Amino acid sequence: MTGPARSQPRRWLADLAWLPGQGVCRDVLIEADGDRFTSVTPAASPISSAPHVSATAPSATSVPERLHGLTLPGFANAHSHAFHRALRSTTQAGRGTFWTWRERMYDVAARLDPDSYHRLARATFAEMALAGVSCAGEFHYLHHQPGGRPYDDPNAMGRALVQAAAEAGLRMTLLDTCYLAGGLAEDGPLPLAGPQLRFGDGDALRWAARVTDLGCDAHGMIAPHAQAGAAIHSVRAVPRGQMHPVVAWTRQFGAPLHAHMSEQRAENEACQAVYGMSPTRLLYEQDVLGPRTTVVHATHVEDADTELLGGCQTFACLCPTTERDLGDGLAPAQALAAAGCPLTLGSDSHAVVDILEEARGVEYAERLARRARGHFTAETLLCAATTAGHTSLGWPDAGEIAAGCWADLVTVSLDSVRTAGAADGVALEAAVFAATATDVKNVVIGGRDVVHDGVHLLVPDVPEELSRSIRAVVG
Ligand SMILES: [Zn+2]
Repeated sequence: MTGPARSQPRRWLADLAWLPGQGVCRDVLIEADGDRFTSVTPAASPISSAPHVSATAPSATSVPERLHGLTLPGFANAHSHAFHRALRSTTQAGRGTFWTWRERMYDVAARLDPDSYHRLARATFAEMALAGVSCAGEFHYLHHQPGGRPYDDPNAMGRALVQAAAEAGLRMTLLDTCYLAGGLAEDGPLPLAGPQLRFGDGDALRWAARVTDLGCDAHGMIAPHAQAGAAIHSVRAVPRGQMHPVVAWTRQFGAPLHAHMSEQRAENEACQAVYGMSPTRLLYEQDVLGPRTTVVHATHVEDADTELLGGCQTFACLCPTTERDLGDGLAPAQALAAAGCPLTLGSDSHAVVDILEEARGVEYAERLARRARGHFTAETLLCAATTAGHTSLGWPDAGEIAAGCWADLVTVSLDSVRTAGAADGVALEAAVFAATATDVKNVVIGGRDVVHDGVHLLVPDVPEELSRSIRAVVG
């Protein structure tokens, strides 16, 4: 069962479903036509007596598929570097910092070509689908051949990612990343060197010309499942004078704009030395911040930065499993949210791919930092994983089980060893604080079954594909 024809109506009856403004409701009849929900009816009557069922419409009288457990909207993985998946377990051996990890990451980056990148990304996106991710924000900077020469198609690597997402059944936003400098020294930006050479387009105008060649329409759509967005890699990798062309490109297409920011104190110190201000202030002064912009990590931000970010309604994407894996530090999540930043979640380096773990990681980090509990409710954390995440990727009509929205459903088992025993009234807490990606049983993306009973329906053997594609690029 790989899903219906795109125009075929679908019906599901969820034991429990989380609905906007209503919380968790019982016996929810969910209907879709093609890739959109058409109606959502809590406490649905038995189908035979449902008053809106028409006897003359066979598709509408079909028995709905029962969804056992808690059904949620699709999750957004708002920050991904698909190829980092090859580093899992290698990174965790031994010691080091973000900077030593980066050297290992460069080794993998040096080995990929469009074919091997496609295979690795397809397996990684399939792992995401198994974890309930319906849309990924792929922060993509591996553009050119080693040494920096463009491929015959200068967007061959980006297209490999778009194709990989399609084959794994996900929607995606290709956050095509401007990456021009090799770092920020006290006397200014450094040239790209070694493995970084393949990240660079020379300058931001040439970056914009290449991204435009992706062929997106006026709304930035590359394909029905994929849209183009932009990223400024960081203030380390894009000099101040090169930021405006990127911002201008996003305004032309109404596209989302993402940037790594203040993941490391060393970045703040270099930015202060060269520009006399924090990375937040620099991005603000270059018109980068705003309600279509996401800053990723925001780990080391001062109170004034937090106020600037919140005042601009900039999204803050937190990646707790990566941040703790790399020893980055703790972002002031509660202060960012209180200042007005919608929070989103990403698995970033894919140390694990589990959006529920990212969600609880935000709350647990806050508890450890402040030695008190209860800063974010399960519902607030799920909003980060769903509505806010999708909106930050340019899909504002995804992330809610509501008529008109993208027909994405994630059903979490409530009878596994991790979740059994939770009363209906705490089903959201069971999902966010006890469940793992393993408890995601069914995933529907755009009205199409992608995962059924824990099995990916489009990629037959995800572990084998991960194994093979990783072996091909890790020595
Ligand atoms: Zn990242």
